[in-house]
Amino acid sequence: MSERSSPEVRIEDLSGVGPKSAPLFRELGLDTARALLEYLPFRYDDFRFPTPAARLGETGGEENAVGRVVAVKERRVRGLEIVEVDLVDDAGTRFSAKWIGRNRYVYGRFHEGMRLFVRGRAERNFSGPMVAVTHYEQLGEAEEYRGDLQPVYRASKDLPSRKIAAVVKKNLPRLVELAPPDPIPMAVATARRYPTLRDAYRAVHAPQTPEGANAARERFVFGEFLALATSAQLRRSERERDHDARPLRVPADLLERFERALPFALTGAQRRTIREIWADMGRDVPMNRLLQGDVGSGKTLVAAAAVLLAAVNGTQSALMAPTELLAWQHAGKLAPLLLPFGLGSEALFGSQSGRARTAARARLASGEAALVVGTHALLTEGVGFDRLGLAIIDEQHRFGVEQRARLRAKGASPHTLHMTATPIPRTLAQSLYADLDISTIDELPPGRTPIDTFAVRTTRLPAVYEFVRKVVGRGNQAYVVAPAIDESEEDQTLASAVAEAARLREDVLAELRVGLLHGRLSSREKDEAMARFARGETDVLVSTTVIEVGVDVANATTMVVLDAHRYGLAQLHQLRGRVGRGAAKSYCILVYPDDAGETQRLDILTRTTDGFLIADEDLRLRGPGQLGGTIQSGNSDLRFGDLRRDIHIYRAAKSAAESIVAGDPRLTQPEHSGLRAALASEPSTRTLLLSS
Ligand code: ADP
Ligand code: MG
Repeated sequence: MSERSSPEVRIEDLSGVGPKSAPLFRELGLDTARALLEYLPFRYDDFRFPTPAARLGETGGEENAVGRVVAVKERRVRGLEIVEVDLVDDAGTRFSAKWIGRNRYVYGRFHEGMRLFVRGRAERNFSGPMVAVTHYEQLGEAEEYRGDLQPVYRASKDLPSRKIAAVVKKNLPRLVELAPPDPIPMAVATARRYPTLRDAYRAVHAPQTPEGANAARERFVFGEFLALATSAQLRRSERERDHDARPLRVPADLLERFERALPFALTGAQRRTIREIWADMGRDVPMNRLLQGDVGSGKTLVAAAAVLLAAVNGTQSALMAPTELLAWQHAGKLAPLLLPFGLGSEALFGSQSGRARTAARARLASGEAALVVGTHALLTEGVGFDRLGLAIIDEQHRFGVEQRARLRAKGASPHTLHMTATPIPRTLAQSLYADLDISTIDELPPGRTPIDTFAVRTTRLPAVYEFVRKVVGRGNQAYVVAPAIDESEEDQTLASAVAEAARLREDVLAELRVGLLHGRLSSREKDEAMARFARGETDVLVSTTVIEVGVDVANATTMVVLDAHRYGLAQLHQLRGRVGRGAAKSYCILVYPDDAGETQRLDILTRTTDGFLIADEDLRLRGPGQLGGTIQSGNSDLRFGDLRRDIHIYRAAKSAAESIVAGDPRLTQPEHSGLRAALASEPSTRTLLLSS
């Protein structure tokens, strides 16, 4: 009991962990006994049942077998032991077991008549079933084989899973005593028929059956999701409680007036998302909404509508974008949309002259400017607003929690709109961004010709550039994207933008005007390169992925991506969104080296331009921990659950969280003390949420 009050039992205090192995445990993040308790196995090897020899090799995986040795063949070849043993199982069926390797110490060990247990990958060949042995055990003459489910832990080279398992097994009763408070209230655990927390720990570390282990594992996933969902729900209810936002009135004819000032009709999805956003802004609870839509879906217009509503109510808006290039573009697109309403906008960037910045700041402070667009330069001390009513954060994942909060802090509970061009499936978005409401633009403006996408090998690059020449001959422009800036970068095999631009200028496309854009240019050089391309003064722009998001040149109809296999699907989709922005037919050519190995995943891009579908596939292939860098560290902070795989558990946890928070908004009831403790310690609850 005294141990429970001091949960920091160190790893070296456990039996079986000495001064030598303690650092190895630490390397895996296992500093304390409790950390070891919470270090769940990722799978189990089932040693329980021997497979009859007649059925060995049917699964293609590891199998167990028990038999009596009838023949032994062994040799040594240059230090390599090759031992092959023929056995007969209880049913009289013959099979063989094979050991190959150095220092396996099996040479000379086996003889006829011996009873053995063997485990390993089994296959069938013309001479019968054969087990490539990874584990074996000698059995006594009358000994009945008994094996169990063996937990397999994520291990390191010097600390194998078996050592971890041994330490866990030896200390399990003591470890279980150190269990953290249960995040799941008793009533919820009972309703979901979960075992007690301690039984759950026993069932995952020392399982009797795979079903028992899985049921126990779900308990941990649910507990983690419950903490995450509760944290989101608390933030949401806190936001709802304060009623301190300025409710903005929506004039009846505003949407009509907005649409009349546009050269085209809004899409249904734009109209719907504008209404969703305006409805939020009409409340005295600050909006916290994510606007997601594929590249080219027309998010800028929707943002402009939000700015307009803020402005007609006498408040200002700020849009923060992750790069100057994107900020410039937003500024350039928003200004003309606001002009018909007599609304002025400002831009604020790090690279601006001091004079321009001072002037812009003055117009913000006086309230003269309805909108400011900028980079994180907006966050500096000197930037103040008269009345900031709306904060828009573009590509929110590129900003930290703190930066987002600092922008909002420039106003008194402003409404917040997050925007992203990386669509993720709706259910996943709702759980990842549990404290946000989500608006999705799921429809592209009409008149877009779908982009034709091809995947080709590098040997066909000359034909690809021949095609680029034709495109330019028709008066259009092209991008060529390379993964590296120059050849001196660590990976010599990667195509480099600098080298490719030189090669195109001097040789391959010598008659064309070739521009170059990459992240090591100064902001001014970047803007110039981009501007020349936008004005049609260069035909081909060779670039790194700095053009990735948002860049918009309608006359560019062709994109060539070199070493396309190096990118995630979602990122390639983003890149591809740079073309197909005008009425002309557009093309995307994904080039991968002849020896690139597996490239099938590129095929999905040749088949669809649906960003949601691609995001889903990307997620399936890569696992949600990465998402092409879109959710940053977020998801990897989950220790037990996987939001994609376990989405049904998340939903259940979310609805439990809603009723818990509804009944006990400050989690002060004793049955919620474990949950409250989990909220304080759970890393996922801190990083996954977008409001802070
Ligand atoms: P996003 O920011 O979502 O990538 P944009 O707002 O930049 O997309 O819009 C992409 C292009 O589509 C722009 O050139 C814009 O003028 C045009 N556009 C937006 N909405 C419509 C619409 N409803 N009808 C026709 N064109 C539209
Ligand atoms: Mg945009």
